[in-house]
Order: sequence, then structure tokens, then C-alpha cells
Amino acid sequence: MKIPNDVLLIMNTLAEAGYEAYAVGGCVRDSLLGREPKDWDITTDALPEAVKALFRRTVDTGIEHGTVTVMRGKTGYEVTTYRLDGAYSDGRHPDSVTFTPELREDLRRRDFTINAMACAADGTIVDLFGGQEDLEKQVVRCVGDPDERFTEDALRILRAVRFSAQLDFTIEPATWEALRRHAPNLVHVSRERILAELTKTLLSEHPERLSELGPAGILEWLPEQFAECHADRRAAALPEERSIRWTGVFAESAPETVRELLKELKSDRDTMDRAALLTREVKKPLPETAADVRILLSEIGPERFADLLLLKKAGYGLNADTGAAAGIGNPGRTAAERIRRAEDLAAEILSRGDCISLKQLALTGRDLIALGVKPGPELGQKLAFLFRKVLEQPELNEKETLKNLLAEKQA
Ligand code: ATP
Ligand code: MG
Repeated sequence: MKIPNDVLLIMNTLAEAGYEAYAVGGCVRDSLLGREPKDWDITTDALPEAVKALFRRTVDTGIEHGTVTVMRGKTGYEVTTYRLDGAYSDGRHPDSVTFTPELREDLRRRDFTINAMACAADGTIVDLFGGQEDLEKQVVRCVGDPDERFTEDALRILRAVRFSAQLDFTIEPATWEALRRHAPNLVHVSRERILAELTKTLLSEHPERLSELGPAGILEWLPEQFAECHADRRAAALPEERSIRWTGVFAESAPETVRELLKELKSDRDTMDRAALLTREVKKPLPETAADVRILLSEIGPERFADLLLLKKAGYGLNADTGAAAGIGNPGRTAAERIRRAEDLAAEILSRGDCISLKQLALTGRDLIALGVKPGPELGQKLAFLFRKVLEQPELNEKETLKNLLAEKQA
């Protein structure tokens, strides 16, 4: 296992002061799988105050749970004291945490066997619950009694599905059965945490695992809009970006459905707006003329236009683009040809710098005011008129030409 130097340095500093220290959890799992760990967590028998005393730059991330972040350059490493969790009376959080000198106790409180391994500085793996075997079998299995584990913390239900999607593992049968039994405990989990796990599943290599939430009995504990989620393999071809992937799995739904779902789950505004916009646009046929491409670019912007092409390329909303169904343009073109054409046209338009936003109009609102137009609705209408003309014919975008156009219109 290749432990980064900064992590080794932290572990060695703790060891030299007489403490135990191990890399633990996700980083051990990912390293053993030959994947690049996202972050490295360290577990130790040193108490938080002792950890803070040993390192120059630390942050009290979750000091009451025993977590201190040790900074090395710009990277932070979470160093957490071995702990056991007290009773879980709310179905989500331990009532109290107790520090313990035993690594075994700390590993036992973790959710899944594959997440419950530690690695010493010399590379020795501490695997007390069959984590390596489960990695080989490619299964997600609870540490200990799955009924207890899902009763303690219902978030683990969604974490099991998430890890199965990220790693392409199956959920071990006893864990799966327990997960189904305890799905109603999800009422104890905050909407933000639900969204976070669903999003990780959505952005994984196997977003189609979202469709396992139905058979798992989880669906009825999620906002009702989620029932329309249609997750299949096509979503895996989409970039790992939330609004695009949400659009993929809700491509058949009304834009309002996605918006309401994400709102219920307390998503950020940006993701919500983008997903609703793309869900609306993906159902329309792609534009086939330069003028129509400019109009769409002006309405949704180049970024969303690019997202839309990615969705179409992955196979979403193609009904609108296939021949006669589109009912417009050249019915002989295949969907692939239409995508290609829209992409080429947009690339030309953008590289030529055709006017696709009011800001690029050669005649500004200020110019119009100088010409005697009163600020207000009239000014807006005139600008909109000129903008529309220029979208249709970009060569008109010159100050004098636009002035003349306006004069003609008024005449
Ligand atoms: P990721 O790649 O998403 O960071 P991870 O395994 O590191 O995956 P984290 O949520 O960062 O997951 O948690 C770190 C470790 O803490 C886990 O590997 C697991 O051992 C433990 N853990 C996290 N959440 C829970 C939980 N709800 N119940 C029990 N153990 C948990
Ligand atoms: Mg982690």
C-alpha cells in the first residue's frame, strides 16, 4: 500500500510520541482496490489535545467526536481518536462518544467490513471483520449484526447502496434484508444527508443502482417525485456533474418534477435551475439551422447548450430528433446527424463570435437613449427587436445598420 509522505509523517510523529496511529476507512479500502483514495484519515489512541500539541497547524473539525484536522501545506488530514459510539436513540447519531484505547473498538463501530480496516505505517493491514475477503467477493456487508447497525444509523442504508454503486459491489444478502427491514428508519435522516448520498450514487460509475431503491423499499421514504427516477446505464456515459445526471434520470419527467424533488432535498439553487432547464430542453428537437442554434444559445447559454448535446449523445430525448417525429427541418436526418449538425453549427457560431447575447449587440441601451428613446419598456422592446434580427442575421450587427433598421421600423 502506498501511503503518502504527509500521512506517514503524521503517523510517525504520533508513534514517536508513544501513540498508535493507523490510516483507516475509505483510504485503506480504496488503496487495496487499486483506486486513488480521495482523502486519508488517521485513527489514533492519542486524545485530541495530545494530537493538537504535536502539530503546529491544526483545526478543531469535530473535537467533541475526537477529530482534529492536521494541516500539511494546503491539505488537511483528519486525525480521530479511537472511539466507541454510545446508544443511538435518534436513529441517526450516537447520544455520546467515548474514547477508547482499543483499535478494535474503533473498527467495530464502523459501518461496513470494507470500511473497517486500518493500515499501519509499515503497511500491515488490521482486518478484524473480513474486509479483505469482502473486497475480493465484491460485497458490501455490515460489521456485526446488520439489524443493529441500520437501527443505530439509518444513513447507512443509503451508504450501502452508494458504495455498491461506486465500487460495483453487490449488497450481501443478510445486509440487504436488514436494509429493507429498516428502510422506515430513513425518516430520521436529514434531507441534506439523503441528497448527499443520492448524489454520490448518481455520480458514481453505476448510477443505475438508484433503481435498486425501489426493490429495497426505500422509495416511499424519499420525496414522492423520486418515484419517477429512471436510472439506467445511459447515465454512466454522462459527465460526473449533478445537474446533467439528474436530468438524465428524470429525462422523461416534467421539469417541475426535478425542481420539486431537488427543492425537497434542499439542493443548491444552481443544480435545481440547471436540471429543470435541461429537463425541459432535452425533450425538444435540436435546432437545425444556424439562426435557430443562435436563438437557443441566446436562451440557454453556451454551457447549457453543451450539456444538452452531451445528453442527446448519451441517448436522452432522441424521440424529438428522429425523422418525422420532429416534424420540422429535414426529416431524413438521423438523430446522430442532427446532433453532429447542431454541434458543428454551435462551434462555428461561437468561434466566429456571432452575437448571441444582448451584451454583444452593436447598439446598446445607452446608444438608444442618446437617440432619444426613453428608458423603460419601449427601450426594452426596441433592443429585443434588434437582438432578434441579429440572431437571425448576424451580419446586421453594426451600429449604423441597426440604427437604420430601427428607423425603418418606425417609419
Ligand atoms: P468516501 O470515499 O466517500 O470518502 P469513506 O469510506 O471515506 O468514503 P466517509 O464518509 O468519508 O467514507 O467516512 C470515513 C469512514 O468513517 C468510513 O470508511 C467508515 O469507516 C466510517 N463511517 C462513516 N460514516 C459512517 C456511518 N454513518 N456509520 C458508521 N461508520 C461510518
Ligand atoms: Mg472519506
